[in-house]
Amino acid sequence: MSTTHTQAPKRLKKRHLALASAVASVAGIFMLGLPLQEVAAKRIELPLEMELSDRAQEWLPSLNQTTASTREKMIDIQGGDTLAAVFERAGVGVGQMYQMLSFLSTEEKKIITDLHPDHKLHFQLDPETDKLLALRLERSPIDSTLITYHKEDQAYQVSDLTREPEYHFAYKEGTIESTLFSAGERAGLTRATMMRLAEIFAWDIDFALDIRPGDTFRVVYREEFVDGYKYRDGDILVAQVTIQGQTYTGIRYQDSQDEIAYYTPEGKSMRKAFLRNPVDFYRISSNFQPERYHPVLGVKRPHRGVDFAASIGTPIKSVGKGKIVSLGWKGGYGRTVVIQHGGQYSTLYAHMSRYQKGLKAGDSVKQGQVIGYVGKSGLVTGPHLHYELRVNGVHKNPRTVELPKAEPIAAAEKTRFLRYSESMMSSIQGYALASQLAQAHAQLMATKGREEQTL
Ligand SMILES: [Zn+2]
Repeated sequence: MSTTHTQAPKRLKKRHLALASAVASVAGIFMLGLPLQEVAAKRIELPLEMELSDRAQEWLPSLNQTTASTREKMIDIQGGDTLAAVFERAGVGVGQMYQMLSFLSTEEKKIITDLHPDHKLHFQLDPETDKLLALRLERSPIDSTLITYHKEDQAYQVSDLTREPEYHFAYKEGTIESTLFSAGERAGLTRATMMRLAEIFAWDIDFALDIRPGDTFRVVYREEFVDGYKYRDGDILVAQVTIQGQTYTGIRYQDSQDEIAYYTPEGKSMRKAFLRNPVDFYRISSNFQPERYHPVLGVKRPHRGVDFAASIGTPIKSVGKGKIVSLGWKGGYGRTVVIQHGGQYSTLYAHMSRYQKGLKAGDSVKQGQVIGYVGKSGLVTGPHLHYELRVNGVHKNPRTVELPKAEPIAAAEKTRFLRYSESMMSSIQGYALASQLAQAHAQLMATKGREEQTL
């Protein structure tokens, strides 16, 4: 069986199941609530006498039962919980927590103390001495951090456990009546999936302004299953949106270097070098105007940017990859960030309530990176983002200016991509036809019912 690799969070990649020497903790993993098949599937390297084969699954449960030398506790994390509070609740002395933490690096401490209400902490204790033998922070059914006590070193060691979910394909389609989100809800898609859909087409479609009733969407995505239960909806593999008669298609493609991006069926990037808007949820409160009366000063003054009205604290994103050339108070602009993108383009973001923590002039930023938050600093009447775009030093209307495209699929990848693209296009069309068939059949059955009633 070949294994597929998904993009795991960075910190999990480095020490992915670094359990090779963890003989003592093998029983611990089982006791900490991980199903056996999963551990077997992960092919953890074990000493010979404990090598896991298919047969191992038969005898491991009994081993599990006879290893009655541990005591287990599971604590659900609640809002505002600290690690110390959870240790208290588990009846494990805080002294043991400090002892354990003393073996951890600053980074590891941060990971294990970052508790959220949907997390669980599993304790494994020696029943006689109450010594903490293992602690597992379960962030989700697929993502845990494990800390185990190693008798031979008399030390605690940290490892990450990631589980590969099982993928099932799913298809949904819908017709927009008012908003994209309500249409998604009716189709049975989660908000997270609809956000992903909007993101794929963000460069081509402004879902706040462009959509009309009757516009449609189709999505092939994958559902992630763990232990036979659906864990969540995952990545969109291919999506189509038809807006005012024009159809846009985005195909998720993982290239030979494991880089993932969405492309048109022909292999053009779905992205542009610049985002159209630096905020997600907004209303345009003032457009780019060469001449206008300034609302505060009451004098004629050109408006060389676009105002996005949004609530205080709305994240502001850098529209493109670049370098921060200034970050600070700029007179009537208030808290302002200016970013240079290559030689020709620069963007300005004003009236922020605060900057993104840790950012300073000279820093590089990625496209979409949050640089600050909407506010009303400087000369303003209400909270909004004032956004400017300059091309070779000249102010341009960011909402109408022609923006350069991001790189298309690499030439070396073209053949591989086109083959994949073709099969994805057939898939989504096949799903759409199957759905049409089901609807036609349901309609037929419904009319039959009515005719029978009128007889
Ligand atoms: Zn403005």
